[in-house]
Amino acid sequence: MSFAERIKNPELKRTVSELNTLQVNLGRLCNLSCKHCHMEAGPNRTEIMSREIMEHVLRVLKNFKILDITGGAPEMNINFKYLVSEAVKLGVHVIVRSNLVILTEPDYEDFLKFYAANKIEVAASLPYYTERDCDRQRGVGVFKKVIAVLKRLNALGYGRDDDLILDLVYNPGGAYLPPDQTELEREYKSRLKSEYDIDFTRLFAIANNPIGRFGEFLRRSGNFERYMQRLQAAFNPAALEGMMCRYQLSVAWDGSLYDCDFNQAIDLKVNGVNNIKDLGYKLECRDIAFGEHCYACTAGAGSSCGGATA
Ligand code: SF4
Ligand code: SF4
Repeated sequence: MSFAERIKNPELKRTVSELNTLQVNLGRLCNLSCKHCHMEAGPNRTEIMSREIMEHVLRVLKNFKILDITGGAPEMNINFKYLVSEAVKLGVHVIVRSNLVILTEPDYEDFLKFYAANKIEVAASLPYYTERDCDRQRGVGVFKKVIAVLKRLNALGYGRDDDLILDLVYNPGGAYLPPDQTELEREYKSRLKSEYDIDFTRLFAIANNPIGRFGEFLRRSGNFERYMQRLQAAFNPAALEGMMCRYQLSVAWDGSLYDCDFNQAIDLKVNGVNNIKDLGYKLECRDIAFGEHCYACTAGAGSSCGGATA
C-alpha cells in the first residue's frame, strides 16, 4: 500500500491552516560531504540562495513564528548574517542547523558571538558521542572539531542558559531506526558531561531518509528494499499528526517551494504556487505531496527536524 493510502484521515493529508515554520535552505555548498547527507551537499556544489530570493523570504516570513535555516553549511552563504539579522528584527525565532566544523575556520570565528547576541537556537549534528562512530559518518577529524566548538558554545552560555538553546541531532549510522530519544538523550548527556564537560539542551533523534547519499548507499549495499520494508512495518499512525510538513513550508536556494527538506532533495514540489517569488502574504492550506520516502517520518516514534513526533 502506498504511503498516502495509509493515511485514513483526510485532515492529516493537508497542512494546518496556520503554519509555524519557514524552513529555508541557503544552498548545497558545504565544507563537509557526510555519508548520510540527503542533500548531497559538499565543497563542489555551487547552488546558493541569492539576496533577491532572501528578500522574498523576509517578505513572507511575517506569516511565521520560526525561521529554520539549513543547507549545506548555511554559514557559507555570503548573505547569511543579513538574513538572520533581518529575521530577528521581525521578532521571529531563528534556528540555525550548523555542522559546527565550519565555525573552526578562520573566516567564521565571530559567528558564535553573533549567534549568542541574537539568541539564535543552534541545532548541531552529532551522529554519536564517540569519535569513531561520528567520524565514520562525517569524515576524519570532525568529532574533535565539533567538541571544541561545543565547548565554546557552552562558554557563551549555550546549553546552560535558558535562552541559549543548543540542540544535538543524532541519526543512525546504518539501515536501522533510531533508538528511544529520551533514553538516548540521557546517554548523550551523561557521556558528553563526564568525558568532555559539555552540556546541551536536548537531543533530536532523526531517522535516515532513503534518498540522497543514504539512498545511494542502501542501493549499493543491497539494503534498499529491506530498509523500506522495515520502515513500512514500523508505520505508526500516531506519528501522522506531528509530521513536520503539516506545520511548515520549505524554501530551496532558488526559491522553489516544498513541503519539507526531503521533498526538496528529490524535487517533489508543493501543490499550488511553487516559487516564493509568486507567493502572496496569505498562505493557503494545501494538500501535501507525499512519496514512499515519507515512511521514514512515521516509523516507530516518528521523525522530523525536531526529532521524534509520537
Ligand atoms: S549532512 Fe550537513 S554537514 Fe554533512 S554534507 Fe550534508 S549539509 Fe553538509
Ligand atoms: S518526507 Fe516530508 S512530506 Fe513526507 S511525511 Fe516527511 S515531512 Fe511530510
